[in-house]
Amino acid sequence: MAHFLEKELKALGAQVELRELGPQGAGTNVDLPPIVLGKYGNDPNKRTILVYGHYDVQPALLEDGWDTEPFTLVQKDDKLIGRGSTDDKGPVLGWINSIEAHQQAGIEFPVNLVFCFEGMEEYGSEGLDDLIHEEANKFFKDVDATCISDNYWLGTTHPVLTYGLRGCSYYSVTVEGPSADLHSGIFGGMVSEPLIDLTHVLAQLVDPQGKILIPGVNDLVAPLTPDEEKLYDNIKYSMDDLYSATGSKTNLFDTEKESLKARWRYPTLSLHGIEGAFSAPGAKTVIPAKVIGKFSLRTVPNIQPRELDELVFKHIDNVWKKLNSKNKIEVKLLHDGLWWLSDPHHWNFEAAKKATKAVWHVDPDLTREGGSIPVTLTFEQALKKNVLLLPMGRGDDGAHSINEKINVDNYINGVKTLSAYLHYVSVEPSS
Ligand SMILES: [Zn+2]
Repeated sequence: MAHFLEKELKALGAQVELRELGPQGAGTNVDLPPIVLGKYGNDPNKRTILVYGHYDVQPALLEDGWDTEPFTLVQKDDKLIGRGSTDDKGPVLGWINSIEAHQQAGIEFPVNLVFCFEGMEEYGSEGLDDLIHEEANKFFKDVDATCISDNYWLGTTHPVLTYGLRGCSYYSVTVEGPSADLHSGIFGGMVSEPLIDLTHVLAQLVDPQGKILIPGVNDLVAPLTPDEEKLYDNIKYSMDDLYSATGSKTNLFDTEKESLKARWRYPTLSLHGIEGAFSAPGAKTVIPAKVIGKFSLRTVPNIQPRELDELVFKHIDNVWKKLNSKNKIEVKLLHDGLWWLSDPHHWNFEAAKKATKAVWHVDPDLTREGGSIPVTLTFEQALKKNVLLLPMGRGDDGAHSINEKINVDNYINGVKTLSAYLHYVSVEPSS
């Protein structure tokens, strides 16, 4: 894929280099796929826009339940079906199509483009962060703004621009006592049970209405301003979208607005699992000797990870002391990533709003996402320039799932939107 992109870009007259990243992990002889860096145009009178995308995809096998061979792109009715069609080969090709279209129509390209296409996105972007920081003042030094097309519309009918992502801090709580699993008929009632302790601890983290019970966490959340509140007014999202996505009516909030705020701009705590607990079918009378609970918080402005760790550790410590148990407990942070929040009134966004309006004839919804795309924050921090998320596909495209698709409409209009964005961004006054 890297060599394919290199060939395509070079054929259009771009300068391209493949950055080798060396072997994947110590002791292997498998090299990481190279990062494709490229430049198209170097006119000092034009703005320079960095576009990021990834050419790797999730694994896919026909046996997983695909209707067609996943690695052969097929058109069925108004859909292009195949692995990567929407995530993210389609959008990557969209940038290439945009250059081609300009050349064929004899229209001057409005900006200088800088490309960064990686091949490890679906595996944690190994090697990319270091490269971005290293090249911030070299290969990326002239960049005025960044555009990433690697997410989706909220629903299926209305285009969006995305200005925020939540972060994630993931923890484990280990409780251990006996040196081996015990029989409840022999030892039940005589020893303190790790799983009983652990479930007490987990129950003190969040209540069934989703309220976080760790003191201090909600105080770190940035207050909702009237300007921000307005952004939630006309978003095309209905409770039916939520019902169909979850296959249930298990909603915690009754309105669209409250549901979206809970997903985008407030922290949430989820319990994920318990390692070491009996989980097979049947009725085994075991007392597990060691159990590890897993939970994570999705974080938002202005929660700082180290501050959050401190609140989490302190709270669990307090809860633990009240249990008066002779078992041992250990709480660990497994990984964390910071949230990202951009300014949706920045000129980079204003250009994308005009482009969307010109192509789709509607104003885009301004959305955030409940999950994370860590590279977004890396680009913003390293380059200190605005980052815009400008998605091409729809919310039901099935990225990472079977029968991944992109609608023909979204592809064609998506390429037009990316192109129109480059024209608007070339003339949008800096604010
Ligand atoms: Zn992707």
